[in-house]
Amino acid sequence: MSQSKNEVVARGGAFAAIARWFDTSVPDDAAPVDPHKPEWSRLAPFILMHGACLGVIWVGWSWIAMAVAAGLYLLRMFAITAFYHRYFSHRTFRASRAMQFLFAILGNTAVQRGPLWWAAQHRHHHRHSDTDEDVHSPHTHGVLWSHMGWFTSRAAFATNAKAVPDLAKFPELRFLDRFDILVPFLLAWALFGLGWLLEIVAPELGTGAWQMLVWGFFISTVLVYHATYTINSLSHLVGSRRFETGDSSRNNFWLALLTLGEGWHNNHHFNPGSVRQGFYWWEIDATYYVLWVMGKLRLISDLRPVPARVYEHAGRKGVGPGPADTTRSAA
Ligand SMILES: [Zn+2]
Ligand SMILES: [Zn+2]
Repeated sequence: MSQSKNEVVARGGAFAAIARWFDTSVPDDAAPVDPHKPEWSRLAPFILMHGACLGVIWVGWSWIAMAVAAGLYLLRMFAITAFYHRYFSHRTFRASRAMQFLFAILGNTAVQRGPLWWAAQHRHHHRHSDTDEDVHSPHTHGVLWSHMGWFTSRAAFATNAKAVPDLAKFPELRFLDRFDILVPFLLAWALFGLGWLLEIVAPELGTGAWQMLVWGFFISTVLVYHATYTINSLSHLVGSRRFETGDSSRNNFWLALLTLGEGWHNNHHFNPGSVRQGFYWWEIDATYYVLWVMGKLRLISDLRPVPARVYEHAGRKGVGPGPADTTRSAA
């Protein structure tokens, strides 16, 4: 009798786990599990995203499909660093509510969950960098886990709204966070439709619906994934340290190129409140240049500079701990 009851619970658990692909608010009442163990329902879509890239064997390639994939890599990498990271997680500049909603949609197209979840996880990382509490430190739980394991655990799934009260007060952001598959689904459909249309109106381009879906959505998204993940894995392992930050964050030129400026991670851990992560002209920070232009166009405002005391500290060769996280707590 009790065995059949357990089976019902197990089936209910699996059903609820799949339901959470579509509605992240479906409660998880399963018994607590090891926070460092992957959960099959999170692992499956992640593996499928990679597996779908193999579709390239059948759909082939075209210049237009590769250009769309590259363009969407740049746009979505920018959306992650400029909006999910520098705006939602650290509030390093201000924007209108309408612009903020647009930022959330653009960030959501990168298929890295909703803005509240992303910002809450990231603020947690800054509070507990490279300690046992840090969910993605390569030093405490291994490089592979820091790169692409941590978000497949059941423990990392729920959005901790208490960590992002300044964002959770906006119903439109809560909606995107709850149904975080909606925007990626619409993007995938739009790409499929674009390929279908081009095949009819411009057959000389040699593309089609399935090819555009594979390149524009799956390959481009997986590339953005792994570029983003290097900041959690390699940026705490490989590179130089200008500041003594109490964690193992590094500055790395190559990762900064790949991620449009996120590679200046030691700078960022020392002073997370500034919109720039490359603190000097030779530290290439493409995201900052675009945000600077957006500021000039008055699309955003109040871009927080690197404080003078940070440059003074850098001049003294980084002795002692840096200033605390100056993340804005209110909009
Ligand atoms: Zn970090
Ligand atoms: Zn950060």
